[in-house]
Amino acid sequence: MGKLSKDKRDIFYRRAKELGYRARSAFKLLQIDSEFHLLSSCTRAVDLCAAPGSWSQVLAEKMKANAKDESSAKVVSVDLQAMAPIDGVDILQGDITSLATATAIINRFEGELADIVISDGAPDVTGLHDIDEYIQSQLLLAAINITTHVLRPGGSFVAKIFRGRDVGLLFDQLRLVFDRVSIAKPTSSRNSSIEAFVVCQGFKQQMAKLPLEGGFGGTGGSGSLPLPDSLEKSERDRFAVPFIACGTLDPEHAPVTKEGFADSDRSYGVDEGKDSLKPVQQPIKPPYESWKSRN
Ligand code: SAM
Repeated sequence: MGKLSKDKRDIFYRRAKELGYRARSAFKLLQIDSEFHLLSSCTRAVDLCAAPGSWSQVLAEKMKANAKDESSAKVVSVDLQAMAPIDGVDILQGDITSLATATAIINRFEGELADIVISDGAPDVTGLHDIDEYIQSQLLLAAINITTHVLRPGGSFVAKIFRGRDVGLLFDQLRLVFDRVSIAKPTSSRNSSIEAFVVCQGFKQQMAKLPLEGGFGGTGGSGSLPLPDSLEKSERDRFAVPFIACGTLDPEHAPVTKEGFADSDRSYGVDEGKDSLKPVQQPIKPPYESWKSRN
């Protein structure tokens, strides 16, 4: 797809470039934050599955603004893919489902704890629905597992989820670990997508760390989330998690068009007289390069 056609399709992508963000996803985090005010007093953060880095850019700006002196702000960002440097961000390349990466993240905090952990992880989809859903759930469980080791009591956790069959059980499990659990759908996330974000606040101090050595994922085994008593309950008796649309009336964090707030499912032409901007950061080692060199 050509640069211009993507520009034409996506007003959030164009606005992100105007503001210097590497990806349109920046708006998702900004809109979630405008609703939940998660970042207003944080100085230490972890960004899991961070490439190309627009969430890390937002974190770096906010942590720097909140910290009394620059040296007390800390952002650790991790991705499978190589990421171009971002001022104030400590970048690690690795798989968040591996023990080595989890340990490296924990070590980067040198015994201190983070105020917030965020994860926008998404696997490359295979098109085989069950496999895609399984890999996505492994990413989420790995993120939660790492979170139990690096998050301070009372801290927050935000992660991308796909609202599928077993999401009710996930919410019940998260409520064992956090005081408040909500689902956020920023206006920058397409309505046509089942993507949403779980926003967990008030990490419970008494929560035991999940064992990193046991491997991640699964239900009820070593390295997985505990099973809630409510597993026995019917869907109807379960706690209803608030579903919150964010960024709706917030011109600071969403593009505004002549007709009002932008709709992320619609295409908007580039304004007359405006040029298409270059991407803020080209991928530094995209996987398709190695495919091209082999073929
Ligand atoms: N939040 C990012 C931003 O604002 O630029 C966008 C993240 S992108 C939607 C999802 C990322 O998840 C991809 O960069 C992908 O490489 C990463 N990812 C997928 N599986 C991963 C894994 N097992 N470990 C680390 N990163 C992973």
